[in-house]
Amino acid sequence: MFLDEDHEALEAAALTKQTLVDTQARMGMMLDLMPMGLLIHTRQGIIFGNQEAARLLQVPQNEVVGKHFLDFLSTHAEEAAKQMEEAFDGRIGAEPTEAEVRTATGQARTIKLIAGALPWEGNPVVQLLLQDITDLRAIQDRLHLLAVTDELTGAFNRRHAFNIGHALFRGEKAVAGKAAVAILDVDHFKRVNETYGHSAGDAALKTLTQSIQAIIAADTSREMTFARVGGEEFMILFPTMKPEAVFEVCEQIRREIEQKPILSAAGTFRITVSVGVALQQEADGSFDVLYSNADKALYQAKSSGRNRVCGLDSEPASRRGSTGNSART
Ligand code: GH3
Ligand code: MG
Ligand code: MG
Repeated sequence: MFLDEDHEALEAAALTKQTLVDTQARMGMMLDLMPMGLLIHTRQGIIFGNQEAARLLQVPQNEVVGKHFLDFLSTHAEEAAKQMEEAFDGRIGAEPTEAEVRTATGQARTIKLIAGALPWEGNPVVQLLLQDITDLRAIQDRLHLLAVTDELTGAFNRRHAFNIGHALFRGEKAVAGKAAVAILDVDHFKRVNETYGHSAGDAALKTLTQSIQAIIAADTSREMTFARVGGEEFMILFPTMKPEAVFEVCEQIRREIEQKPILSAAGTFRITVSVGVALQQEADGSFDVLYSNADKALYQAKSSGRNRVCGLDSEPASRRGSTGNSART
């Protein structure tokens, strides 16, 4: 009798255990199907990782346990650690962390991390949800590039340059007298198209862009934005630069373009540009006023002979005209 009872109790215990094992296996299978990585983490290390987490971390699933999640991160490890700590304290961070995972193959993956507390037999445990956003980020970067780039030349487009210009005046960067805009317009470009053909004209715009980009890139100490703002019209935005330096850069560009041969099927030719420069006059000025002043200065450069850099009449005479021609404003 006593033995029977004992036997029954043992059977019940075995059944309970089996049920637990089955439940765990079932849970594991369910979690393995999730398209998101899931790690169960103590302060010491990982105690469970689903299939997607193992794929993301590039570790065989049976080797995930015992490792520490932060050891896999090559960027933003501090932010991730802070988020995990908040989760251990039962708080949920307002913003998910984005970080790069360093994989065994050397291939970087971008992940979004969400951390939350998980009741676990009185032990401090957190669950980490990992979303692989590598492809999404790559698409977003590509779309952003397309949205800000001029298709023909690869320079920034007008919309992007104007956004930067307007943002500059909203922020604190533009200090009175320091921001400047230069508008560059190719001289007699219609003739280039008529003489050498439209594709030669396109080649000229590309060559001009490369020349200006090279000059700007060589000057790493200054943040200049170069953009194509119209057919054969370009602009440079100087956020914080001394007027003398602005005119120097523009003159350097004018000279470089003037001497650069452009190769085309119809023959080799050269182009020149006229440049209008406006300097910010007051701290409360707007980008649109600055741009319109540069346009007026460009008109002066055109009407006084082309192939020259001109400031507005209101600028000191020493800065007003600089040109490769004998004619001066
Ligand atoms: P100016 O010295 O007064 O600026 O004379 P211009 O001939 O350059 O001025 P205008 O504005 O009359 O002509 C600009 C020409 O630029 C007209 C247009 O055919 C040409 N153009 C505009 N966009 C492109 C382009 O993307 N490719 C080519 N090849 N030509 C373009
Ligand atoms: Mg022109
Ligand atoms: Mg024009």
